[in-house]
Amino acid sequence: MPNLVARAAAIAPGFAARADHWDQTRIYPEDNVADLVRAGLMGATIPKDFGGAGASLADLLPAIEAISGACTLTGRILVEGNMGALSAVMAYGTPAQKARWSQLVRAGDKPAICITEPGAGSDARAMTTRSHRVPGGWRIDGVKHWITGGGVSRLHLVFAQTEDGIRGFLTEGGEGLRVARLERTMGLCGMPEAELHFDHHFVPETALLDADFGDLMAAYNVQRIGAGTIALGVAAQAANLARDHLLKRRQFDRPLAEFQGLQWMLADMDTELAAARLLLQDAAASGALPDRTKAARAKLLASETAVRVVDRALQCFGAAGYSDAHPLERMYRDVRMFTIGGGTAQVLRNQIAAHVLGQKLPQRPAAFDADRAGAIAAE
Ligand SMILES: Cc1cc2nc3c(=O)[nH]c(=O)nc-3n(C[C@H](O)[C@H](O)[C@H](O)COP(=O)(O)OP(=O)(O)OC[C@H]3O[C@@H](n4cnc5c(N)ncnc54)[C@H](O)[C@@H]3O)c2cc1C
Repeated sequence: MPNLVARAAAIAPGFAARADHWDQTRIYPEDNVADLVRAGLMGATIPKDFGGAGASLADLLPAIEAISGACTLTGRILVEGNMGALSAVMAYGTPAQKARWSQLVRAGDKPAICITEPGAGSDARAMTTRSHRVPGGWRIDGVKHWITGGGVSRLHLVFAQTEDGIRGFLTEGGEGLRVARLERTMGLCGMPEAELHFDHHFVPETALLDADFGDLMAAYNVQRIGAGTIALGVAAQAANLARDHLLKRRQFDRPLAEFQGLQWMLADMDTELAAARLLLQDAAASGALPDRTKAARAKLLASETAVRVVDRALQCFGAAGYSDAHPLERMYRDVRMFTIGGGTAQVLRNQIAAHVLGQKLPQRPAAFDADRAGAIAAE
């Protein structure tokens, strides 16, 4: 099995050195993508039959952690170059679909996954983007927003309503697909978050992925483990920075590390990170399409732990951590995303609660009537 973590560790220092540059310029890090390609890390999880390294999720997690600790942005590219939409294509694609995606991903394309819409966030099933059958293929119409990599990704997996429910379509863009606007995000700057407009966008018959909505979301569990691992990598690096600072910085004639209140902060960070890492490994080991509850628990714990740990690490630095001259300021902004994107902490708790209670927990009560609610309030 290829030693992915050694390869990641070899290129991570270069990513750390350039991380502020991408953050400040908001430029997509093509140089870093080229390094990931050269190291064989893009598409490492693609089976050998399709040109990849056939790496397992468990092989990949330490590499994601190492890269993300250096540069969160590049960690995301590594995850989406191995998980996300790619997992769905590798699980349900035809040989031709797999071969095409493998070729482009291994050459550096980070696929985009297009689920969220202005009116359909946590409630993804409420999406209104539609795909209609037309001679020779399908025509897609609708608006997707917060699409990571929109405008730089060539490969897209688009979720759309059809007569048979929500299905996934593969497109490489072209007529009828355009970036309508870009978000100005708080962190992870350098990664475009785009609103994509599909306007009579034609895709051929061969663009349809042979998977229903449940299948597509099962593949999405892989992405959740990846997202949790990026957050873990950022937080572990933040904890290292805090430890080094406490050993070095002196107040009251002694190193800060001698104060028990600060030692306990380090101890809590270490313990919580170890717990998150174990849950992520457990979820990754649960299958090529991981167990849904294990993936939800792992992403929930890792993302919330990471936000807490980076916050504590920044506290250890005092004012220095609040300056944009220090990487923690960027890491604090970057890590905040992970309790939102790819399944919010609340939606993950809903899934875990459904598992605990052994039943589906519908979130949309059939009886709810917004007009009637207004009328009662007015009485
Ligand atoms: C940086 C970033 C990148 C993203 N990348 C992509 C991407 O590549 N592709 C893509 O399709 N989407 C992407 N998203 C969108 C992301 O998946 C959505 O933001 C997420 O699903 C939540 O939807 P929403 O933002 O519309 O929040 P809403 O659904 O409006 O929710 C608002 C708040 O209410 C809570 N809430 C909603 N429903 C419930 C409930 N039933 N019970 C309890 N709490 C609830 C939520 O947890 C949240 O805190 C990205 C988002 C971000 C921030």
